[in-house]
Amino acid sequence: MTTKGNLFILSAPSGAGKSSLISALLKQTSSRPMQVSVSHTTRAPRPGEVDGQHYHFVNKAQFQQAISDNQFYEYAEVFGNYYGTSEQAIDQQLAQGIDVFLDIDWQGAQQVRMKKPEVTSIFICPPSKQALEQRLRSRGQDSDAVIQERMAQAQAECSHYQEFDYIIINDDFEQALADLTTIVNNQRLKRSQQACQYSDLFADLLA
Ligand code: GDP
Ligand code: ADP
Ligand code: 5GP
Repeated sequence: MTTKGNLFILSAPSGAGKSSLISALLKQTSSRPMQVSVSHTTRAPRPGEVDGQHYHFVNKAQFQQAISDNQFYEYAEVFGNYYGTSEQAIDQQLAQGIDVFLDIDWQGAQQVRMKKPEVTSIFICPPSKQALEQRLRSRGQDSDAVIQERMAQAQAECSHYQEFDYIIINDDFEQALADLTTIVNNQRLKRSQQACQYSDLFADLLA
């Protein structure tokens, strides 16, 4: 029997380091396959962003159509743009035993928790407001106006930290990555998971 994949949510104020942490996690060797869910968005691509890889970039009409067709597991309006997670894509990955990571905002996290109470949710915090602004600037991909808007929204995102199972402070990147790896391994080592993955072993040991 294939063990079903685990579903993880990572949320954080924009610029706290979600994308960098997920990308570094996926580059590590791992006992199980992992994938990041590729969201749909009406936001314009940043320089270097590839359609289908970073996001599925769609226009508002296409997004509205997908909502009407019930294609989204969850969706939300963030910074004036729509973002959503495709239901079919993540269900297929989980059924194949792939651990799936959702980089979504707190509104999306609330919707996913209602549908899947077993989801593991992780909140990433910057070490300070100053560091957050510095990171948004050093990423060099957003205009001043966009950065100001994201800083203004950071407090709203942070006000939901108590809804999450785990909190990682992304100060030293390597430490934050180690913390994220620990959380993922913790989930994989749970009895319910191990009993399923090693059902033949337990059958043998108990025979
Ligand atoms: P980032 O915060 O710098 O990574 O900027 P993005 O433009 O990539 O993401 C903007 C916001 O939308 C963040 O709060 C994300 O967590 C959120 N977001 C991205 N994809 C999704 C999604 O599929 N669903 C929901 N609900 N939120 C999303
Ligand atoms: P998010 O996906 O949460 O918006 P990013 O992963 O794009 O954030 O990170 C924002 C910027 O901060 C990037 O330029 C990234 O290289 C940098 N960054 C991420 N983590 C750290 C860290 N621990 N220390 C310093 N800079 C960091
Ligand atoms: P960015 O525009 O910088 O790529 O993303 C901004 C915010 O949107 C991030 O905080 C990101 O987590 C969130 N986001 C990205 N995709 C989704 C999604 O599919 N659903 C939700 N709810 N939020 C998303």
